[in-house]
Amino acid sequence: MRSIGHWFAGKAVEGRSGRTGAVYNPATGEQQAEVSFVGADEVDEAVRAAAAAFLEWGQSSLSQRAKILFSFRELLNAHMPELAGMIVDEHGKVYSDALGEVQRGLEVVEFACGIPHLLKGEYSDQVSRGVDVFSYRQPLGVVAGITPFNFPAMVPMWMYPVAIACGNTFVLKPSERDPSPSLRVAELWAEAGLPEGVFNVINGDKLAVDAILGHPDVAAVSFVGSTPIARYVHEKATASGKRVQALGGAKNHAVVLPDADLSFAADHVSAAAFGSAGERCMAISAAVAVGDAGDDLVRALTERADAVRVGPGRDEASEMGPVVTLQAKERITGYIERAEREGARLARDGRGLVVAGHEGGFFVGPTVVDQVTPDMEVYRDEIFGPVLSVLRAGTVDEAIELVNANPYGNGTAVFTSSGEAARRFHREVNVGMIGLNVPIPVPMAYYSFGGWKDSLFGERRIHGPEGVGFYTRSKVVTSVGRHPGPAPARPCTSRR
Ligand code: NAD
Repeated sequence: MRSIGHWFAGKAVEGRSGRTGAVYNPATGEQQAEVSFVGADEVDEAVRAAAAAFLEWGQSSLSQRAKILFSFRELLNAHMPELAGMIVDEHGKVYSDALGEVQRGLEVVEFACGIPHLLKGEYSDQVSRGVDVFSYRQPLGVVAGITPFNFPAMVPMWMYPVAIACGNTFVLKPSERDPSPSLRVAELWAEAGLPEGVFNVINGDKLAVDAILGHPDVAAVSFVGSTPIARYVHEKATASGKRVQALGGAKNHAVVLPDADLSFAADHVSAAAFGSAGERCMAISAAVAVGDAGDDLVRALTERADAVRVGPGRDEASEMGPVVTLQAKERITGYIERAEREGARLARDGRGLVVAGHEGGFFVGPTVVDQVTPDMEVYRDEIFGPVLSVLRAGTVDEAIELVNANPYGNGTAVFTSSGEAARRFHREVNVGMIGLNVPIPVPMAYYSFGGWKDSLFGERRIHGPEGVGFYTRSKVVTSVGRHPGPAPARPCTSRR
């Protein structure tokens, strides 16, 4: 059995705590590796390595950082197929989707390559006679990232390229379910010339997270995962004086108005519901049909659900892979069962799907649950599987109220041909990322990513300009020249 360790102080480190977890291949259902879980002493070692590295890296020049980031970008680009393959084997998503994941992460690296520009400060000349004021930003020190299983390459890349470019050193605690891509990335950073100790990876579970949250030398924590853990991380880390951004779960609604192109909407809503087996924080899990759009929409969605080719992620013909673990599969099928008991109608039931040759795989077929009401568990909870609930609303106002009454506020979309309705929708919904005829409105790397309400705890969103703000502190300097006497004005005589 392959064993997976850690990476800190510039080298691969074998686990020594004796605590381990199983890593499965979700397409076959077989365990393929054993990952070591760090103990608190190993977390301390990794943080100390990062703290030692910060003494140099925090003083590195902008051109040195940009040069290493450009090299890292080239290496990532060259190793994209390898990283995507690792994602498929441990997460289960299909290969094209895994490639897309690495590509979206790479775009954050490209954003961070512009760090000399991003860290430019401000300067006010002559705020008073002989007095100038300027501001600039400095790194925080050791910062940590704690990430979920569903984007094992991209979500960590929302964090560390920006953090490292800003002059911090980084300790990553990836998901214990798919840890391998992060260790490969650590090797690529080393090959790109990043000094040892600047990027570190520790594998583990709650014990590792708690040791990070309580470590006095960790200045800031970026977390992405489910809402209960995001809330916990935010409370615990702020209590110990750390800066925190904790992104949580989601229940993303697609509102379909009667004037929408129904076929277009059904194509996009079903792709957003069943892509990556619904294991995306921006997946659409609730479709809200407005007015008389309901029955036609359900018919179109069930047709799309039937057409999805479910199979192992390595098979090029597959459009949707398995879910990540057997527990995830059982949790999802439990929700489908209880939805039926609560009075919803299963327009398509993905339970019982068997993929020939992969009978042990953790597959759940695309499921469409109709006649869902807001009080049902299938609507209230984040299911994180290929299950799409369909609700009905009489008017656009009712649909907006429904979206706003939901405790989550990550993403939402409206499908309509009315510019006026689209504008009202984006102005009135209390959600952080909104698509107008776009089902998964994930912002580009040069914007910041993050939701509202229970989908984000903390003030700053991730990557983009808010990421730079999160990983730095600003200083404002007021400066009086040594001889502040009246300086003669020297008019410029050139016309050019
Ligand atoms: P999770 O919350 O179970 O795990 C996230 C991280 O927290 C992992 O590293 C895990 O080891 C750690 N963790 C788990 N339980 C813990 C505990 N009790 N104490 C301390 N740490 C703990 O999430 P997941 O199942 O890996 O990922 C799926 C979730 O992530 C979904 O809710 C999804 O919506 C969310 N997500 C959100 C975003 C976003 O941008 N808002 C992006 C991706 C995923």
